[in-house]
Amino acid sequence: PCTEFDKAYFHAYSHVGVHEEMIKDDVRTGTYKAAIMRYQNLIEGKVVLDVGCGTGILAIFCALAGAKRVYAVDASEIALQANEIVKDNNLSDKVIVMLGRVEDVNIEENVDVIISEWMGYMLLYETMLPSIIFARDKWLKPGGLILPSHATLYMAPVTHTARYSESIDFWRDVYGIKMSAMLPLAKQSAFEEPCIETITGENVLTWPLMQVMEVDCYTIKVQELESITANYRFSSMLNGSPSSDQHSQNSSQSKKRVKSDETIVLSTAPEDAPTHWQQTLLYLYEPIELKQDQIIEGSVTLTQSMENPRFLNIHLAYSSGGRSFVKESVMR
Ligand code: SAH
Repeated sequence: PCTEFDKAYFHAYSHVGVHEEMIKDDVRTGTYKAAIMRYQNLIEGKVVLDVGCGTGILAIFCALAGAKRVYAVDASEIALQANEIVKDNNLSDKVIVMLGRVEDVNIEENVDVIISEWMGYMLLYETMLPSIIFARDKWLKPGGLILPSHATLYMAPVTHTARYSESIDFWRDVYGIKMSAMLPLAKQSAFEEPCIETITGENVLTWPLMQVMEVDCYTIKVQELESITANYRFSSMLNGSPSSDQHSQNSSQSKKRVKSDETIVLSTAPEDAPTHWQQTLLYLYEPIELKQDQIIEGSVTLTQSMENPRFLNIHLAYSSGGRSFVKESVMR
């Protein structure tokens, strides 16, 4: 059933700003377009389902790539605009826009291709992936194509001292007045929740990034998404204080770029061009000093929140230099 949470979620997608931000993210939209062109031979003459079509952009790319029919489904009222856009581009004979949840609509044939842009912050935020799994299990023909085919969530310890100072050290001296009494409150308010910010490869303390989870869109099950735990052990490559621990999501579009044997990857890694996903940073309330080669280890657990299934609880356990800590946060 469509819950109050779903209503609020779909309503958020009825605003123009969110679609503008996604479409203007050239890394995102351009990579989808490149993947559609790369797989044109598997799309031409075929039936496609676009799960969460928004303005209809991916469905239209597929129609232009020669799809026989494209079901473009969205539970947000933005589907009304998508329908107009399809008409204005003379594609009404190919693209069928449906307003409703993919879980509720009625599609009377199986499909050769499922395309969707379901990735949220830190990959899993928004919990849209279960809807792709639902569509796959209900309508995808055996041997059908899913775009993207795989997605990987990575993490790494990072340092971002300037950012930390800006929110925290500022209180030490305000117009010559000592306001350190504000520090606990300032730390709580700045770092209680994960921060969506763009950092660069220079902020990263260890390479390579560590894989938290890999999603194979052909085989993943909903139950596997309920709780995800990864243990990590990093050896600091530089001196620094990891005021934060960072999750970068790196979602690989079905495979392949330019050269036919190369994978097409939509990367959101800090060393690559920034995207609207940025990076998700978990700042530690108290930064820890790290020496070269110092070990930082622990585990991270992501669970769907009881408060709202679209939210994520993040449990981060870390220890370094003989001391252990836990940070709990909720991504709302
Ligand atoms: N495909 C578009 C929009 C991506 S944003 C683009 O690439 O620009 C994700 C969209 O999926 C949102 O518009 C949201 O309303 C829709 N969505 C999420 N879960 C859905 C579900 N279960 N059924 C239908 N639409 C869904």
